[in-house]
Amino acid sequence: MSTVTLRHVYKVYENSEKKGVANTKPAVSDFCMDIQDKEFIVFVGPSGCGKSTTLRMIAGLEEISDGEILIDDKVVNDVAPKDRDIAMVFQNYALYPHMTVYDNMAFSLKLRKVADVKKDKSGNPVLDDNGNTIPIMRKYTKKEIDDKVQAAAKILAIEEYLERKPKALSGGQRQRVALGRTIVRNPKVFLLDEPLSNLDAKLRATMRSEIIKLHDQLGATFIYVTHDQVEAMTMGTRIVVMKDGFVQQIGAPQELYDYPINTFVAGFIGTPQMNFFDGHITPDGKITFANNQTVTLSKEALSNFDANKIGSGLDIIMGIRPGDLKVLDAENDMSVTARVEVIEALGNETIIYANLDKSADGSIEKSPTSIVASAKLRKNPARKSEIILGLDEEAIHIFDKNTEVSIRIDR
Ligand code: ADP
Ligand code: MG
Repeated sequence: MSTVTLRHVYKVYENSEKKGVANTKPAVSDFCMDIQDKEFIVFVGPSGCGKSTTLRMIAGLEEISDGEILIDDKVVNDVAPKDRDIAMVFQNYALYPHMTVYDNMAFSLKLRKVADVKKDKSGNPVLDDNGNTIPIMRKYTKKEIDDKVQAAAKILAIEEYLERKPKALSGGQRQRVALGRTIVRNPKVFLLDEPLSNLDAKLRATMRSEIIKLHDQLGATFIYVTHDQVEAMTMGTRIVVMKDGFVQQIGAPQELYDYPINTFVAGFIGTPQMNFFDGHITPDGKITFANNQTVTLSKEALSNFDANKIGSGLDIIMGIRPGDLKVLDAENDMSVTARVEVIEALGNETIIYANLDKSADGSIEKSPTSIVASAKLRKNPARKSEIILGLDEEAIHIFDKNTEVSIRIDR
């Protein structure tokens, strides 16, 4: 079993004082989470949001300013990194250049001790006067180390490179060795900090699925840091979205995609990005956009949203994902009209960049009225033509314009 619990964890870097003015803005604020055994957790968010800091606090490489971290229900605030039964893989691999792949993997085992009982020459336990075995700490044997290195090499398919030095390996192979070095230690928890960001796109995709397989095989708890929402969506059993040191939302990938709690999560998860429009909603479900186009929600769709928050009318930001728009032949209650600016026909789908405001200057830069649709089309619309876009009313998101928090209630 290997659970990790964070209770109101804060990090303020004491050394981040500028010219005597203390910078008290925490790098991580009030991080609370229960990570279950065997989960694959992904911390995701823009650069500087506190992902690495949180990971390093779990590893024990960074002191906690406030709060508690527990591993297997035991507070580890004051436990040294080497005693936490945790292994960390970094973006830059940190392999020893002068050692072979084999020695890179064997190295940490040579330094480690293993719990055993005292034995005689023929391998039978020695007993004390009361007939009990005598616990000792001993080094790993050559055979034990070899077994572990070979087993890890097999899992990672690097058996043929064991005698090479790191410089004779590709980036992907090096990353595998870095993983191998942690696997041999059989830790309870694996921490991975952007381990794939130095690899090219194709290799990244391959390694992504290998790490998922590895997680299945090892049955350990993984915590993985990335700024890439695609990695987060494809790898995580649960995702933690962070911004400015604060956890925004924790949930399964589909949950975050379907029910983002605020505009930040809504915009961060999913590609192409969700469209956002300023508007005003009235209690009858009518939404008026900035350029005076309107849509009207059915009673059922309206019941997805908090009537109290809507009150007698509310300024909102409405969100709709490109894939939840359809090109229609005729207008209806949930349609808008738009002028096509750019078409990207990708074969399996077409991305349409359009503008709800026909007098707009024709750029596809993000403007309050630009809209992106991705659809399967038999015939692509012409540039500058006017199209009718239908919004899937079950898929629209409504956020309070002031707080940017979702007013959905069926979450
Ligand atoms: P991320 O991994 O999400 O990119 P980090 O956890 O590395 O973000 O950083 C979070 C914040 O803490 C950033 O503002 C960063 O500048 C700051 N920070 C990180 N490490 C240190 C440090 N050693 N000293 C002072 N500030 C730091
Ligand atoms: Mg980082």
